[in-house]
Amino acid sequence: MNPSNLPTQEWPAEPKVQFGPWACEPPLDDESEAFRQSLRQFATKVMRPIGQELDRLSAEQVAAKGSRLYEFFSQYDKLGISLELLFSLSDEQRAVMFPILFEELGWGDAGLAIAAAARMLPFYMAAKMGNQFVLKEYSEQLIGCWGITEPDHGTDSLDVSQQLFHSQGRYGRPNCTARVSDGHIVINGQKAAWVSNGSIADLCVLYCAAETANGPDPQHGFCVVVPTHLPGVSRGKPLEKIGQRALPQGELYFDNVKVSIDHLLAGPEDFKRAVYAIHTDANLLMGATFSGVARSAYDHALAYAHERKQGGLPIIRHQDVARRLFHMLRKVESAQALTRRVARFNAFEPVPALQAAMLAKVTATEHAFEVASDAIQMFGGNGLTCEYPVEKIFRDARASMIEDGCNQVLAIKGGYNLINPEWL
Ligand SMILES: Cc1cc2nc3c(=O)[nH]c(=O)nc-3n(C[C@H](O)[C@H](O)[C@H](O)COP(=O)(O)OP(=O)(O)OC[C@H]3O[C@@H](n4cnc5c(N)ncnc54)[C@H](O)[C@@H]3O)c2cc1C
Repeated sequence: MNPSNLPTQEWPAEPKVQFGPWACEPPLDDESEAFRQSLRQFATKVMRPIGQELDRLSAEQVAAKGSRLYEFFSQYDKLGISLELLFSLSDEQRAVMFPILFEELGWGDAGLAIAAAARMLPFYMAAKMGNQFVLKEYSEQLIGCWGITEPDHGTDSLDVSQQLFHSQGRYGRPNCTARVSDGHIVINGQKAAWVSNGSIADLCVLYCAAETANGPDPQHGFCVVVPTHLPGVSRGKPLEKIGQRALPQGELYFDNVKVSIDHLLAGPEDFKRAVYAIHTDANLLMGATFSGVARSAYDHALAYAHERKQGGLPIIRHQDVARRLFHMLRKVESAQALTRRVARFNAFEPVPALQAAMLAKVTATEHAFEVASDAIQMFGGNGLTCEYPVEKIFRDARASMIEDGCNQVLAIKGGYNLINPEWL
C-alpha cells in the first residue's frame, strides 16, 4: 500500500464538536427536520403546559368534557398528521418520520403522547387489516382505544400462543367473549381498567376470545371495531394512577352488544395476525415515545447542572456530575438509535419483526426510567418536589415498564421468537 494514496483528514488545531439539541445525530433532510421542528414547538408550547396541568388534576377531572385534554387533541389535529398522510409516505420516509413523531410527542408529555397514539388505533388497525367500511364510516377525529387486557387476564391476553402459560395453571374463562349471530358480532364481558382512553373513547379496537361450541377460545378470537355509543356498552370510572396522568384509563363493559359484521377486522383464523400486527407497531411506538421521555429527563438534568451552583461552581464542573450526565446521554442515544434501527428494519421487511420491536420497547422504557431517576438525583432535594418537572417524568416512565406488556414478559416472548419467529 502506498501511504500517499490515503486521504488525509483535515483536523482543526483545537478539535471541538458541539452537540445540537439532538446530540450526536447526523443532519436530517430538510423535510424531516422541518417536521421535527414543528413537533418540538408543539411539544414545548402545547404539550408540556397541558400535560403538567392535567398531572395535578384528578382522573375524573382529566376525563371530563372541557378539560384541556380535548384542547390537546384539537391542537394536535391542526398539525395535519393524519393516518392518510402517514400511510401515503414511502417506506423510507415512514421509517424516519414515525420515530420522530413519537420521540417528540414523548419529549413533550408521555401521557398525552399515548393518548394521541391510542386515539388513532382503531383507524390504524382498520387500515392495516384493509377494512374500508370502518375507514369510510368513521372520522379520524373520534377518540379511539385498544381493549385487549382483562381484569383476570393481563399478561395472559398478550400471550396468545400460551407459551408462557404455567403447566399447572388454571386459566379460567376469558372476561370478554364474542360470537357471530345473524350478521352481527355479539359481545359480552369486560376489558381491564388499563385501557388507554377507555373512559373517553368513541371507538374501541377490541380483541377478545371467540365463543365456540367447546367454550371460549382465546387463541382464535375476534378483532373488531366497536363504537362505544352502541346499546350495552358502558365505561368504568377513570383510573387514578402514579404516572401518565394526562392519559385517561378505564374499563369497558359489554352487555350483549351487537355490532354489524362490517366492523370485523379479523376473525378466528386471522386473530393471531391481528395481535401480531398491533403488538409490533405498539412496541415500536413505545420505543420511540420513551426515547423522547428519556431525552426530556436528560435535557432537564443537563440544564440544571449548568444552573445549580455548589462550592461557587455550576455542579456540572464537579467530576462525578459530568460522569453521570455522560451515562445518562449514553442511555438516551442508545434507546433512540436502536428504536430508529428497528423502525428502518421493520419498514422494509414483508413481515415486521415483533422481537425487534420488543428490543426497542424494553430498552427505551428501561432507559427512560433510569435516566429519569438519575435526573431526580441530579436535582437533589429539588428533584423530589412538584416545583420541578423531573419527578413527573419519573412517574410517567415508571408506568411504561408495565404498559403494553411487562418488560420481563416481553423479554421471554422476544426470546422465544429467537427460537421460532412463528410463535407469538
Ligand atoms: C400505562 C398503561 C397503559 C396501558 N394501556 C393499555 C391499553 O391501551 N389497552 C389494554 O388492553 N391494556 C393496557 N394496559 C395494560 C397492560 O398491558 C397490562 O397492565 C400488562 O400487560 C400487565 O398485565 P397485568 O397488569 O394484569 O399484570 P399481571 O399479568 O397480573 O402480571 C403481574 C406480574 O406477574 C408477572 N407475570 C404474569 N404472568 C407471567 C408469566 N406467564 N410469566 C412470567 N411472569 C408473569 C408479570 O411480569 C408481572 O410482574 C396498560 C397498562 C399501563 C400501565
